[in-house]
Amino acid sequence: MQSISTRADLRGFVSSHRRAGRTVGFVPTMGALHHGHMALVERCRAENDVTIVSIFVNPTQFGPNEDFDAYPRRIDHDLELCRSHGVDAVFHPGMQEMYPEPLRTVVEVAELSSILIGEQRPGHFRGVATVVAKLLNIVEPDRAYFGEKDFQQLAVVRRMAFDLSMRATIVGVPTVREADGLAASSRNLRLTPAERRVAPVVHQAMLDAKRLFETGERDAATLLSAVRARAASEPSIALLSCDLCDSATLGALRRVADGPAVLLVTARLGSVVLIDQFELKPDLATGGPAA
Ligand code: AMP
Repeated sequence: MQSISTRADLRGFVSSHRRAGRTVGFVPTMGALHHGHMALVERCRAENDVTIVSIFVNPTQFGPNEDFDAYPRRIDHDLELCRSHGVDAVFHPGMQEMYPEPLRTVVEVAELSSILIGEQRPGHFRGVATVVAKLLNIVEPDRAYFGEKDFQQLAVVRRMAFDLSMRATIVGVPTVREADGLAASSRNLRLTPAERRVAPVVHQAMLDAKRLFETGERDAATLLSAVRARAASEPSIALLSCDLCDSATLGALRRVADGPAVLLVTARLGSVVLIDQFELKPDLATGGPAA
């Protein structure tokens, strides 16, 4: 496995593989890698000849009072995990390499960026879209892999790639969970043992709504109040948002009708913001697999 820190070296690595006729897949990350990231790596390896992972904690997607400094950094562990999962190259640029000059150009995906998490975190998706655009321009992969866990991020990146006629196909990968249902996340490392014990309540609250949905409930307010009620049973969890949206447009739904809907939740536990999602599909309403 190659460990690469400059754009020039990364471009050289990619073009040598392209000349040999190989396809290139790309998994952008902020590091502190875990088995959720590795699901993206495995999918990438299955669909491409060459797999590149990037590790860069991107400052422009953190707000002034957010956890940029506290975000976990474990580069040696990350390189080892990538090596053991058959990654061909890890691109881990420094700040100067990614932002040699203050940016004059940004990517803003209108509407999708300002709703839901974008409302809680103004500027967050501008930072995400801009850094992903930079990374996709550096790597120029055939396919790029993103987790459905960050559902809105996936929607923003898909729309950006479409609107800007980017080469890469954007592929969404289902959320990987811990045994107790908590969505795997780098931020889970920052939960105290007591917080970690109650964290699965967020997922359990969402499962309550899913069970109601499976018995035929379609009213968004009723489904969402099931989530709120269970979350409220755990005093250390503060539900920040809870939305039922159209999976394609992310527009708020009053009822789950014909198309798939997505339940999106963010919750604060101590100093950590947990984020989770799953889709409610009307055609799977009876007997569908548990999320
Ligand atoms: P991050 O390092 O948190 O920016 O995540 C990098 C990529 O991995 C993003 O596309 C995430 O959505 C994805 N990812 C993170 N955690 C999970 C998970 N538990 N399941 C699936 N994908 C994930």
